[in-house]
Amino acid sequence: MPLQSRAARASLLPTRCHDRDGDTVIDNISRREVLGAVIGAAAASAVSAQAHVKPVGFAVVGLGKLALGQIIPGFRNCRSAHLTALVSGHPDKANRIAAEHNVSAGSVYNYANFDRIAADPTIDVVYIVLPNFMHAEYAIRAMNAGKHVLCEKPMASTVADAEAMIAAAKSTNRKLMIAYRCQYEPLNLHAMRLLRRNALGRPRLVVTNMGRQSDLSDPSDAWRLDMQKSGGGALADMGIYGINGSRYLLNEEPLEVRARARTNRADPRFQTVEDLITWEFKFPSGAVSINCTSFDQAGTMAWEVYGEVGKMTADPGCFYNGNRLTVTGVRGEDEPKIVEIDQFAREMDWMADIVRGRAPLISPGEEGLQDMRLIHAILESVAKDGAPVRTDWDYRRAHDPAAV
Ligand code: NAD
Repeated sequence: MPLQSRAARASLLPTRCHDRDGDTVIDNISRREVLGAVIGAAAASAVSAQAHVKPVGFAVVGLGKLALGQIIPGFRNCRSAHLTALVSGHPDKANRIAAEHNVSAGSVYNYANFDRIAADPTIDVVYIVLPNFMHAEYAIRAMNAGKHVLCEKPMASTVADAEAMIAAAKSTNRKLMIAYRCQYEPLNLHAMRLLRRNALGRPRLVVTNMGRQSDLSDPSDAWRLDMQKSGGGALADMGIYGINGSRYLLNEEPLEVRARARTNRADPRFQTVEDLITWEFKFPSGAVSINCTSFDQAGTMAWEVYGEVGKMTADPGCFYNGNRLTVTGVRGEDEPKIVEIDQFAREMDWMADIVRGRAPLISPGEEGLQDMRLIHAILESVAKDGAPVRTDWDYRRAHDPAAV
């Protein structure tokens, strides 16, 4: 179990939490100060216990904004995952980064000679950080080369590609994890655990809003604003946090979606993708989630949950850092103090533990496929001007992140 001891997990739960028949109380204040210390101690003991174990080698494929800004620096904060190889179409950049991060020159690859990674024993895991439309090809090539795959969200740009990736993982017997960082992040896990204990009473409504401004002149946004390359513009890039978030907060899968879009086609950014999309998921418990995403709004990654007797607001709730949770119950408001972590280091270490057989695969390809199918259903409802689209295709997640 990476990083969190039983004590640390227990401390993430509310101090007092009575049933809805009694006086429902949310009270974490008395533990604000201890939470950080317990998690810190658990992390320290995990580090010392693992010190003698051989690191798990990672190849990072695609040296763009996320890889350079978050993932490669994140290896410094890893206890098990180790950067051993790079794959890039820009040899100068790749060689410079290799030198800066002690990656051997012989483990720098390009897209043409990528399959040679099969013979590189320093690589256990290939981390795909490419534009969405390239995920399937490189994930499948990596698995055919005998490597496990950690793949950025969204899993792919089409449902068919996502299915092909899962088939490849099965046929090659390799692990395929989708990098849903919020499923490993302490604030979101804390919220999930409160909800599982019914701390707000029965959850009735989740509201999510995930968006930002986009810039067609930025190459990193140009492919996101291309339907073929991104698989859905803001919805595939940012809205996916609302799709996945609604599902992990409520711990159930939507039965039906209705969606509408507001898109100004005169705006050159929105020639092939929608801009603002709103959608409503209906869940089996009777809960509803109302979601919004846009590539023409101020940067926002926020969610709220309303229960029968309490509510929770995370604003921001899915940033790399600076996230803030407010929990309101019948006795007032609490802002649980949650220790920030390097979310990318946590995910890479989790993947390393999966490879070593020490951690469950809580965000497998099937979890990514579910979101791909929901993206498809949302776009289908948009195309039908808000008509309901059934989404009850019987997906059940293998592990509740809050229970692991
Ligand atoms: P980016 O455009 O900055 O980087 C993509 C890299 O792929 C670049 O180095 C580019 O040169 C390379 N590339 C190779 N072939 C290409 C081609 N044909 N067209 C375009 N680029 C090509 O993108 P990014 O922001 O680093 O995003 C990469 C992936 O990471 C995406 O799937 C994105 O959704 C995901 N992402 C996840 C998070 C998160 O929080 N988990 C955050 C940002 C991005």
